[in-house]
Amino acid sequence: MVWSAFFIIVFRFIHFISFTSVSKIPPELLPLLGSHVPTVGGVSAAIERGVGIGCTAMQIFVKNNMQWFAKPLPDADAQAFIDHPLRKRLGAVIAHAGYLINLGVEGSENHEKSLRSLADEMLRCEQLGIRSLVLHPGSHLGAGLEAGIGCVVRNLDQLHAEHPTLKVRITLETTAGQGACLGARFEEIAEIISRVKAPKRLEVCLDTAHAFAAGYDLSSPKGAEKTFREFDTVIGLKRLSVLHINDSKSALGSRVDRHDNLGKGKIGLDAFRWIMRSKELAEIPKILETPKGKDLAEDVEAMALLRGFLP
Ligand SMILES: [Zn+2]
Ligand SMILES: [Zn+2]
Repeated sequence: MVWSAFFIIVFRFIHFISFTSVSKIPPELLPLLGSHVPTVGGVSAAIERGVGIGCTAMQIFVKNNMQWFAKPLPDADAQAFIDHPLRKRLGAVIAHAGYLINLGVEGSENHEKSLRSLADEMLRCEQLGIRSLVLHPGSHLGAGLEAGIGCVVRNLDQLHAEHPTLKVRITLETTAGQGACLGARFEEIAEIISRVKAPKRLEVCLDTAHAFAAGYDLSSPKGAEKTFREFDTVIGLKRLSVLHINDSKSALGSRVDRHDNLGKGKIGLDAFRWIMRSKELAEIPKILETPKGKDLAEDVEAMALLRGFLP
């Protein structure tokens, strides 16, 4: 009895130590909540904009998302971003890769451009001290799922091999599975991770609107729990480093990617309430990518709504 009590105390102590040492996020920054913030006026302007609307996490594009290449990011701008006095008010800064990049094909001009463009974005992230670069896995453009996944694996291996020391991790985003897009099923993401040579250099982003459109019914608390349990079984929650919090204009299983404002779409608020209250997801940055005007008023409203769900 005495020994078992002793072991329980030791176990609890070890658990306490390991739990407290794993979490590096200052409690005043939790929940890590924010939105995709425009970089008009430069990367530092995004920090002011994000913190200005109350973000404790934010996502940015590190260059124009609809162009392959951009002028180099001056070191002075990158340093100003890192040293910005408001930077410490953001517990997480995430980058989203450009929309032209497609790692799901090979042998075309766009393949070569995709590799160069993504490498450039990885280097920009490194300059800015950003550790997660969210990327849609790609489109097989009709060649089929297996062929597409093979391309993605080879392309990621090549990027990792060419840039062995970069700290930034490519964060594969689950998709709606529109057209020939890869990554709608958790199994597809898991297969990519299991086949690359450096799986530790990959993370995963779950987008609620994409998952719903891909057929994961997280519209009820039970459905949300089931979806995240399935994510844990297939991919592993330890890989999840970003959540995109979007309602969906399109129906369950429609495979159409249309984001909507929270509570206005087909997912509904129950899912978002469940996510905000989940202890397992408490430290995962939650980023809104919902429709908004220039003043970002919709983001402010949505963040207030989400914070109101906290217990
Ligand atoms: Zn997303
Ligand atoms: Zn989307």
